[in-house]
Amino acid sequence: MRDKFLVFGAPLIEEAEIDEVVASMRSGWLGTGPKVARFESAFARYLGVEQSVAVSSCTAALHLSILAAGVKPGDEVITTALTFCATVNAVIHAGATPVLVDVDPSTMNMDPGQLRARLTPRTRAIVLVHFAGRPCDMAAICDIAASRGLAIVEDCAHAIETEYRGKKAGTFGDFGCWSFYVTKNVAAGEGGMVVARRPEDAARIKVLALHGMSQDAWKRFGDEGFKHYHVVECGFKYNMMDIQAAIGLHQLDRVEALWPRRRALWERYNAAFAGLPVGRPADPAPDTRHAYHLYTLLVDPDRAGITRDGFLDAMTARKIGVGVHYMSVPEHPYYQRAFGWKPEDYPHAMRIGRQTVSLPLSAKLTDEDALDVVTAVRDIVRPTKGRR
Ligand SMILES: *Cc1c(COP(=O)(O)O)cnc(C)c1O
Repeated sequence: MRDKFLVFGAPLIEEAEIDEVVASMRSGWLGTGPKVARFESAFARYLGVEQSVAVSSCTAALHLSILAAGVKPGDEVITTALTFCATVNAVIHAGATPVLVDVDPSTMNMDPGQLRARLTPRTRAIVLVHFAGRPCDMAAICDIAASRGLAIVEDCAHAIETEYRGKKAGTFGDFGCWSFYVTKNVAAGEGGMVVARRPEDAARIKVLALHGMSQDAWKRFGDEGFKHYHVVECGFKYNMMDIQAAIGLHQLDRVEALWPRRRALWERYNAAFAGLPVGRPADPAPDTRHAYHLYTLLVDPDRAGITRDGFLDAMTARKIGVGVHYMSVPEHPYYQRAFGWKPEDYPHAMRIGRQTVSLPLSAKLTDEDALDVVTAVRDIVRPTKGRR
């Protein structure tokens, strides 16, 4: 038995980001400033795009993208039944009506067939999620959006390294949105980024992210002299701090170096659990790049001899932190009350949400940690054919 608890999703923090944060503290410039600007350019360079806009979270990124897409109250926005609540809440905050579609049971991504079935004359946009780091079927989804003139917002919270047919996730739609929350592949504590296909949308998001003010605060107080600003819209307080960018900059520098480590962990788990009566993730599809953000098992009590929640407790008792990504959206009382959604109407998302368990997959894991995870899972789930 381990003596230290293995924290789920603990980020790998190194000296470079610690020093950079300290340097920000010593400089006295904590808020939105030169490091945010550097992080924005570095992120745009990583994705191979012209410009990106840093914000306080992916939730903020999604909210502003949906607004900038021109979505109005009364419009319908289609999204997936298997995602974090923030994806759906962003649609609601923009004043639109969210419409859910079920997922493909194998990829856990929005099913384009279901998407087609949910289109109405009021549909204005699609907010998709590249679940666990696996790209959605972008050929099918872009076709549907183009034929109906719908905006696409890509929730890339799991998908910074994801590619589909050689193109980066987040660059297919009108907007791509990323998260730098602690558990994500690039962690800044909190933070988000938006990439917009049209420069005028990026400019509008920049204004909306800082109270609707026409100038950045860091330019306002810079050495070029005081600059007046004008409030041109009723915006939000969604800006990123230099302290966050200080962490994000160095995390982003290592994103490609750490990807093979998480892939190796993912493949190790997949091989170790091959003989167990649990569901394993599908292999990445050809001509795609998986970001390996989550490694999820499906625990079906009839096969595994334990309930999902029993499995979560047993892992925790063995000092292994686990996650659930996610209970399907219609399981939550707010959405049932507000929209009358029922889990049974989205059967694949419902089953996955009730059976799924995420295992630790941070690049911080040592080989010993990974062995502890494998041993714990094999202890808890009865192997088939007496294999041990
Ligand atoms: C983490 C996450 C978000 C929210 O990201 P924040 O930066 O915490 O706002 C949105 N969507 C998905 C799919 C996520 O995993």
